[in-house]
Amino acid sequence: MPDPTRDAAFLLLTAVLDRHRGLDDALEALPPLDARDRAAAHRLAAAVLRRLGTLDAALEPLLKKAPPDPVRHVLRLGAAGLLLLDTPAHAAVATAVALARTQRLAPFAGLVNAVLRRLAAAGPAALAALDGPRLDTPAWLWSAWGAEARAIAEAHRHEAPLDLTLAPGTAAPPGGLRLPTGSWRYPPGTRPAELPGFAEGGFWVQDAAAALAARLLAPRAGERVIDLCAAPGGKTAQLAAAGAAVVAVERDPARLARLRDNLARLRLSVETVAADAATWRPAAPADAVLLDAPCSATGTIRRHPDVPHLKRARDLPALTAQQDRLLAAAAGMLRPGGRLVYAVCSLQPEEGAARAAAALAQLGLRHDPVRAEEAAGLPVTPEGFLRTTPALWPEHGGMDGFFLARFIHP
Ligand code: SAM
Repeated sequence: MPDPTRDAAFLLLTAVLDRHRGLDDALEALPPLDARDRAAAHRLAAAVLRRLGTLDAALEPLLKKAPPDPVRHVLRLGAAGLLLLDTPAHAAVATAVALARTQRLAPFAGLVNAVLRRLAAAGPAALAALDGPRLDTPAWLWSAWGAEARAIAEAHRHEAPLDLTLAPGTAAPPGGLRLPTGSWRYPPGTRPAELPGFAEGGFWVQDAAAALAARLLAPRAGERVIDLCAAPGGKTAQLAAAGAAVVAVERDPARLARLRDNLARLRLSVETVAADAATWRPAAPADAVLLDAPCSATGTIRRHPDVPHLKRARDLPALTAQQDRLLAAAAGMLRPGGRLVYAVCSLQPEEGAARAAAALAQLGLRHDPVRAEEAAGLPVTPEGFLRTTPALWPEHGGMDGFFLARFIHP
């Protein structure tokens, strides 16, 4: 029996783990597929990526020698079904064996069958002695996160909920929870386009932590605000909805087109510029600049479980150098007294507090510490930065990891 979900999940795993492509790009490159199969394939591949270390450790004692990579992927998919997704044992084993055949791995079908049957017999006990959070986190991230590592890694085991930012004056779709910061939260797997109000532009998808950057910038109606690195436009939409005159700068033309589509749905209008924010210059100085800089994205692992498999410690120096260039460019766009918020969806101190300290030392900016009353109960660091992690608000389902700092042009 052909199984389009497992075939597609296999293609996704191969793309991420063997060809180092992003999971979202790999999803777009899938052959045409029924929407439900596609969503199921995404979920299955994401479950494997999220728990890869654990699944490999559970399979290890059952393998006499290392199988070829494609066979390992088939085993991982089968093991995820058995141990994580409550797939009935006979179905998990049979679909994995069938997958081995459709992927031209027929000589390994017997091995897949034998290994997964033994894993099914062990059941959840196969996971009992394993330190999942540690196994599922690359060593460089575990050590960089220090004392927080275990709590962050625990949070990564769960699918992220759907967070919405509401357009001003709009009622939230039913079934949501209002978070202390004002975002609305819906259960994982909720499809935004199926919620009432989507077509009318009543809301946009934005993690609760991602929504904090524009809140800290506090744009006022009529202010001239520049949004650097703007696509797909969640923060642009917040700035425009506040009545600011927004210039959104984004380097990638395809992503800028997505930003325009998103804002058109929301009936918001902004000026868009396709340019490198590090070299572009505005026609006039701005009242405020929001810089949401490109980063390692380690704060978004719950939503993007491919990140730990694609990013390396050695990627950081190029990213931090680019963050410094963008901060210098952003500072140069402000009028005297203008405000700058620097945001990264990263948990790495090199991309957060260290960049803010470098900006203060080198760019002649004044620090404008985040005040506790602006943080809705989220922790402000002793230096006055706002730093969120997926381990915060465990009772509500966590949030993305972000670092946020605010400066004033003297
Ligand atoms: N601010 C966006 C939002 O809230 O929806 C998310 C921004 S995402 C973290 C980073 C974006 O920066 C990507 O769309 C990327 O293409 C863009 N980018 C990266 N380097 C850039 C540069 N030098 N100039 C302009 N855009 C850049």
